[in-house]
Amino acid sequence: MTHPFLDLAPLSAEHFASIEDRVARLMDTSQDVVIMQGEALLPLEGAIRGTAAPGTVALNVITGPYGQTFGDWLRDCGATVHDLAVPFHTAVTAEQVRAALAEHPEIDFVSLVHAEAATGNTNPVAEIGAVVREHGALFYLDAVASIAAEPVLPDAWGVDLCVIGAQKAMGGPAGVSAVSVSARAWERMTANEQAPRHSYLSLLDWKQRWIDGGRKALLHAPAQLEMLALEACVERIESEGLDALMARHASAAAATRAGTLALGGGLEPYVHEARDAAPVATTLRAPAGTDARELVAKALAVDPVLPLVAGGGALAQEMIRVNHYGPQATRGVVQSSLAALGGALAEAGIAVDLEGARKAVAAAWQ
Ligand SMILES: *Cc1c(COP(=O)(O)O)cnc(C)c1O
Repeated sequence: MTHPFLDLAPLSAEHFASIEDRVARLMDTSQDVVIMQGEALLPLEGAIRGTAAPGTVALNVITGPYGQTFGDWLRDCGATVHDLAVPFHTAVTAEQVRAALAEHPEIDFVSLVHAEAATGNTNPVAEIGAVVREHGALFYLDAVASIAAEPVLPDAWGVDLCVIGAQKAMGGPAGVSAVSVSARAWERMTANEQAPRHSYLSLLDWKQRWIDGGRKALLHAPAQLEMLALEACVERIESEGLDALMARHASAAAATRAGTLALGGGLEPYVHEARDAAPVATTLRAPAGTDARELVAKALAVDPVLPLVAGGGALAQEMIRVNHYGPQATRGVVQSSLAALGGALAEAGIAVDLEGARKAVAAAWQ
């Protein structure tokens, strides 16, 4: 008997390339797109180690925990790093980036996270991209949490290295990921003696042995199940329509925000301004005197499938994340999430308006 997962025919190079092309269409890019055989941290790290070296001067924008990690990798590569950190309840502005570049004109690399699922904010990449391009620096973007939740347009925005993963808004597998690479970024990597070569982290290996050879032979046996899952996930997005999928995420974020405000009880959107809030996930601030972990545990005891989680690290006590992404970006999930959180608050003796929240969600869902 053949097993549906175990007894598959090998994934051909042609098939692999066709999946890359479909991912490239999703990003509306004509740059090279490399599908990396690991979670998104693989291309995120590979792209930094490929381009940064002693002599690199980087502006590292920190709007959440990932920005901090990128700064550590850059310093590890010997780069001089100027951190531009903004409070996690807001977004960075193009003006702040412009000012940082003016202060340190030698900056030749800018790293930015588009949307942060961990903090719930999203940054104005189109405007920032224009500033970075004018300055001439290489532009590195983590779009893992934004792809399929809001527009991600590396070509239009002048992004040189744009990393995506399928496990958030795309509703796909976590074990493979992708990065689009501009001609400028390839040049920087080729000239970088320190760039990983003959390494799992190497993008240059994929350029030299896969892309430059016309994508005829794979470097090693691919993660076949994950590649097939990625293909199925892109197929599902194509049949729903990328615009419809992004609209679903925008509605989920707007409805969660409106419902939270109507619920009351001291529960508040963590990101102050709606325009800075990411469509992929909505973060909430637990009412003073409560513990986010306890509220989430109580809500999940009522409905264990809800996409609720307490914030990570230092935010664990105060932040609740509503991960309304992928198949969870539905009105029903938003309604149930707020009802469960409202129930947990009521149980703690806090007055909430459950019916008001329900109406606000319905009204805000476009
Ligand atoms: C989710 C996410 C990633 C991928 O990390 P995981 O925690 O492994 O899912 C990378 N960057 C950002 C901004 C993310 O939100």
